[in-house]
Amino acid sequence: MVAVGRLHKATPAIISSSSTRANTTQIFSASNCRPHIGTAPRRLVPRTLPSQPGAPAPLSLSQGPIQSPARLNAPHSNVMTDASDAASSLLPRRPLGNTGLEVSVLGFGASPLGGAFGDVDESVAISSVHRAFARGVNLFDTSPYYGLTKSETVLGRALRDLPRSQLVLSTKVGRYGADPRDFDFSAARVTRSVAESLERLQVPYIDIIQCHDIEFGDLDQIVNETLPALAQLRNQGLVRHVGITGLPLEAFHYVLDRAEPGSVDVVLSYCHYCLNDTTLLGSVPYLRSRGVGLINASPLSMGLLTRGGPPDWHPAPPGLREAAARAAAHAAARGRDIAALGLGFALRQPDVSSTLVGMASPEVVDANVDTAMRALGTGAGGDGSDGSDDDEVLGEVLRMLEPVKDTTWPSGRPLPRG
Ligand code: NAD
Repeated sequence: MVAVGRLHKATPAIISSSSTRANTTQIFSASNCRPHIGTAPRRLVPRTLPSQPGAPAPLSLSQGPIQSPARLNAPHSNVMTDASDAASSLLPRRPLGNTGLEVSVLGFGASPLGGAFGDVDESVAISSVHRAFARGVNLFDTSPYYGLTKSETVLGRALRDLPRSQLVLSTKVGRYGADPRDFDFSAARVTRSVAESLERLQVPYIDIIQCHDIEFGDLDQIVNETLPALAQLRNQGLVRHVGITGLPLEAFHYVLDRAEPGSVDVVLSYCHYCLNDTTLLGSVPYLRSRGVGLINASPLSMGLLTRGGPPDWHPAPPGLREAAARAAAHAAARGRDIAALGLGFALRQPDVSSTLVGMASPEVVDANVDTAMRALGTGAGGDGSDGSDDDEVLGEVLRMLEPVKDTTWPSGRPLPRG
């Protein structure tokens, strides 16, 4: 069993893990449905996940070195790998729950390939995928929703040149647009959806198929209809593993408490393990007890923790946006990039198997792989240091974000009672 996360020495006082069963108010509105495209009104929402006893205690870096990743794999392929990519510069991997898969600590989030963060030239998108693979990224995540199938199509074209057996390809079912009416978790639709994704991705099987943003669906339907349908596809060899994704952590608990044991292999959580929100830690013991693999997406909080700031559709309330912008400016004034600080922070959490970052240019891929190597003290990323030179600025940034710590926003329907 892996150790519970070790966090920066400046952070213990402000890491508040939270119960995922907390009594929260969630509002079903169109604004919840636009995490990636479109323009959404923003709502000011107070912290919705108060701290609870019994959550894992934060540890500090001063208690020991960052845990080493599971193992450093040998080079994954000669395809797309040039002489500069020695084995020592490849990303480490970690086991993904009980799936038997080993995934790169940094995963390729393909929502930008659908235009979620602005237009992306297809050749640049394809080069980004190839560059990521050459640097040791093996997990690629997409969805029919991203760019309304564009992301899957472009990713499929890029992956055509790479060895299928060395890729962990994950996509999703159930979400097909920005409107609440664009969700369909029925057995018939998700079965058809997998067939469509296989065609767009140009592959014979999908490694991880995930129910996309379950909080917008009927969670009982997901338990009683969607997961059994996906299990059938697994039996047919069209998909290998099944997962669920979403924002409110409580929704994962609701489904996992009721689903047939073994019917959910992976949970993909987003925006809940990053500089401004670490509530995911409160769910780690539960998820571990269920044997599910944990993927953390949006370590930059969908662009909030970048110098350029988030896109217009970002659902963060103004107070959080402003605090993030101030923190980014402070980091820059101290000669640091908040994106690198934020990514390093997320990657050092050993209970997360892979951290998915949206990447749409080879330069961003290189920057993030270098950050990962540096944060983990592995290989020849950046200057090869363990990132401790960033500790002081990281502590300052965390303190600046403390007033908005664990602030989130509404997403999906209210949880069913019981
Ligand atoms: P993110 O936090 O990874 O932020 C992405 C944004 O940050 C993009 O604009 C990207 O260009 C920018 N960026 C990345 N690296 C940077 C760097 N070094 N410097 C400056 N900017 C940088 O958010 P995301 O893309 O939403 O999440 C990552 C992936 O996780 C998605 O692409 C998707 O695959 C997955 N995801 C899934 C769900 C879900 O299933 N519900 C939700 C969110 C994300």
